[in-house]
Amino acid sequence: TACKTTGTGYSIYDPVSAGKRARLRILEGDMRQALQTGEFFLTFQEQVDLSSGQLIGAEALIRWQHRRLGMVSPLDFVSIAEANGFITELGRWVLEESCRAALSWPAHVSVAVNVSPIQFAKGDMAREVKAILRETGLSPQRLQIEITESVFLKGTDQLTRQLQELRALGVQIALDDFGTGYSSLAYIANFPCDKIKIDQSFVRNLVTDVTSQAIVRSVATLAAGLGLKVLAEGIEDQHQKDFLLMLGCGEGQGYLFGKPKASSALFPDAAATGRRHAIALS
Ligand code: C2E
Ligand code: MG
Ligand code: MG
Ligand code: MG
Repeated sequence: TACKTTGTGYSIYDPVSAGKRARLRILEGDMRQALQTGEFFLTFQEQVDLSSGQLIGAEALIRWQHRRLGMVSPLDFVSIAEANGFITELGRWVLEESCRAALSWPAHVSVAVNVSPIQFAKGDMAREVKAILRETGLSPQRLQIEITESVFLKGTDQLTRQLQELRALGVQIALDDFGTGYSSLAYIANFPCDKIKIDQSFVRNLVTDVTSQAIVRSVATLAAGLGLKVLAEGIEDQHQKDFLLMLGCGEGQGYLFGKPKASSALFPDAAATGRRHAIALS
């Protein structure tokens, strides 16, 4: 509602939330058409091995270039798509596009794809992923699926079964935004996953905040004990990177290494070589 109740008991009109709701209605009304007309596209952000600096993977991050509203953040439209069920179709498109993009990368570079809990609840992800891997020809070992920690808090048998099936295919599972969902560290031991992604909120003040340091250190220690990999999100400077390495975090992602960009911009040399080949062949 556009009316907010104040502490005095009077209601006041709130134009900001009214504008926001209008925008949400436009986004909801336009999203199906937008997939047909190509307004959605993927960007990819580098994931690196912190000690060697080597590129190990890239995370697919969806964008929407709306014809009138301009660039729309996934933070604005993913939850709408989850609420109206469109995420099933959009998520399938993201998976397929991500696998196709990864095929043009060096074979040691994997692709990480965010999958919504709704996709797991409404569908058979193992079957869907299997079909996409077969169609595209991407090796399952090069695909990683990111699910948020909140999913695993509400973890059902059905979810666990799908994750186990995905892992049996050779697909890796990463637990995204770790630390934001108040789950117990011990719980991870029984959860089918290969990697923990430490949320960027713990990285932001890492160098000065002893609480963040303690959390990162204990997550890294537990992960090592369980044979899981650890990746820190949102690394923006060298100090954070050095600190994370010291605390036992092996992998990282963030503006220090690269902002999300087009697949062709991830490997400009490969793209240039591809173009030269194309020219030579024509
Ligand atoms: P996420 O998966 O945790 O992605 C990390 C977010 O942090 C991305 O925002 C990324 O651009 C941003 N980021 C990366 N490095 C830095 C840094 O150094 N500093 C700062 N301040 N931010 C950084 P983005 O692209 O806006 O995505 C936001 C969220 O939207 C994602 O969080 C993910 O939950 C969701 N999302 C994005 N793409 C998809 C998708 O294809 N499917 C689904 N279901 N969700 C998606
Ligand atoms: Mg993610
Ligand atoms: Mg995250
Ligand atoms: Mg997030």
